[in-house]
Amino acid sequence: MILVLKKDITEEQKNHIRSILRREGYLIRETSEGGRPLIGAIGKAGQALDFFEGLPGVEKVTPISSSFKLASRKMHQEDTLVNVGDVVIGGERIVVIAGPCAVESREQALAIARKVRKYGAVLFRGGAFKPRTSPYAFQGLGEEGLKILAEVRDKLGLGIVTEITSPAQADIMIKYVDVVQVGARNMQNFELLKCVGRMGKPVLLKRGLAATIEEWLMSAEYILSEGNEHIVLCERGIRTFEPYTRNTLDLSAIPVIKNLTHLPVIIDPSHATGIREKVSPMARAAIAAGADGLMIEVHHDPDRALSDGPQSLYPGQFGQLMRDIYVIAPVIGKQLDFGYLDKAKAVKVMKAARGEGDRRAAFLGETGTFSHKACTQYFGTEVTAVPTSSFRQIFDAVRNGEVDFGVVPLENSLTGSIHENYDLLLEYDFRIIGEITLRIMHHLIARPEAKLETIKRVFSHPQVFQQCRQFLEQHPGWELVSARDTATSVKRIKEGGLPTDAAIAGKEAASIHGMAVIQEAIETNPRNYTRFVVISTGQLKNGPRRKSSLVYSTGNQPGALYETLRIFAEKGINLVKLESRPIPGKPWEYMFYVDLEADIESPSFKSVLDELEKRTDYLRILGSY
Ligand code: PEP
Ligand code: MN
Repeated sequence: MILVLKKDITEEQKNHIRSILRREGYLIRETSEGGRPLIGAIGKAGQALDFFEGLPGVEKVTPISSSFKLASRKMHQEDTLVNVGDVVIGGERIVVIAGPCAVESREQALAIARKVRKYGAVLFRGGAFKPRTSPYAFQGLGEEGLKILAEVRDKLGLGIVTEITSPAQADIMIKYVDVVQVGARNMQNFELLKCVGRMGKPVLLKRGLAATIEEWLMSAEYILSEGNEHIVLCERGIRTFEPYTRNTLDLSAIPVIKNLTHLPVIIDPSHATGIREKVSPMARAAIAAGADGLMIEVHHDPDRALSDGPQSLYPGQFGQLMRDIYVIAPVIGKQLDFGYLDKAKAVKVMKAARGEGDRRAAFLGETGTFSHKACTQYFGTEVTAVPTSSFRQIFDAVRNGEVDFGVVPLENSLTGSIHENYDLLLEYDFRIIGEITLRIMHHLIARPEAKLETIKRVFSHPQVFQQCRQFLEQHPGWELVSARDTATSVKRIKEGGLPTDAAIAGKEAASIHGMAVIQEAIETNPRNYTRFVVISTGQLKNGPRRKSSLVYSTGNQPGALYETLRIFAEKGINLVKLESRPIPGKPWEYMFYVDLEADIESPSFKSVLDELEKRTDYLRILGSY
């Protein structure tokens, strides 16, 4: 059962409750939900629920009817985030674990690791103890394999995921690996589960070959009951009557799991399908269905792999899959971040260089706006997001050193450029160090007791009203009231307390303020994306850069702009954006903002910049990222 405690409960009352629960033989887990303290009590109910509800300081008591308790969403409503070094599994950034089925040699592991890291994997997999169906098949390199994996981590910075097959391996696993995997065949090896529960490492728990979701969660419960909450569930296909694939991938497990438990869930399409060509389609589907990540087998020479070659992707195929995931993720409100590890490392270096305290990034508006989401999705949990009240304030905060970064929107796919920020980019001498695109989905949000029929007044940013025009036209009687930003509008209806008021905002704003979504996705055009850039006074990290932004002006003679664009065309550089803005004080003269698909600052493009310099009156590189 869960005891929801009163907000103003005293420490004395809490102690009293704890001692009664212990006396009754309950296992106690304390958490909090939205600032409200909770006690989860697991055990046989000797006393009726009413008894506990009557204790001083208890607001209400809810039973957990499922057989799994600690794993239940009731015990912990927010998603559990599992940290593995700089990687967070379960948040809004997709985590991809990749590598061979088995570690075969140092050269093999390093060669594959270099490839998968390049394409965006953030954790490396590889079996050292292989649970093979046949005792005559390759059984893995054992501890030698673990040493190779540790070398991969040291050389490339990829955290290591590998399978434990016996409690006897616990000590060496602790020494060498970052995540211990419990394989499908061992999902109900209860001694092994208890052992990994005590190891203090994150656990990747695969679903058994023929396990129900409830049995799988009961296995997680074994690990949780040993005090280890760092569990990632991994669906890898179940045995059915269907012989065309190795197993049948149960994608419906994703929404089921998301509903039942707070633990993150990832998909392993390699073991699920057993066939290379089936892996990428199922991986894409898994992300679309809401998986927190993927585990993919990749081999640089799969024909000669010692295990699972036929289901291993070639590195190039893995790279293509990652590009697809990069495109799919924002559609469902997530991101695949190609710079994940390098960015985290760079922020750490900055932290060390600039002393104690978190690095900070300024965004426009309140917590819960899309700008806030852009900020947290770009930096993950590494950087503190700082609200501001205007775009200029963001630029000033970066200039004064109050923050290290600013996150500003530059353009929306439906409403076009945000000119103010183009002008500010010119005025302040900063660099663009990165970009992030979010899908903008608007929801009608109101108090939980409100209904569509009760609404009379709607708050939001004026641009949001424009983007939801078709929906709002169906309700001509509604009064539309402008607010500074979407999150502020939600705060306002919460404070107003009226069931006749609604706001239009993203779902994050609704959940932050405990309000309800009463109509989902009301934007007229679902292809509504905003591109944000991240600005800073210096460069965050080195490494491959795919894009550059420039601003320049040309003389006022025929063909002047054409002459500059010709330089890019002749070098085969793809131009992805051209924007012109009037130059203040010089009527009818313009600055041109250009985005290119090239790292224009790399030595190979020096001649391009030299020539551009000759053909422009003013030229500045806003950044390569
Ligand atoms: C593996 O991931 O290497 C593996 C053996 O998978 P499973 O336990 O899902 O068969
Ligand atoms: Mn395998």
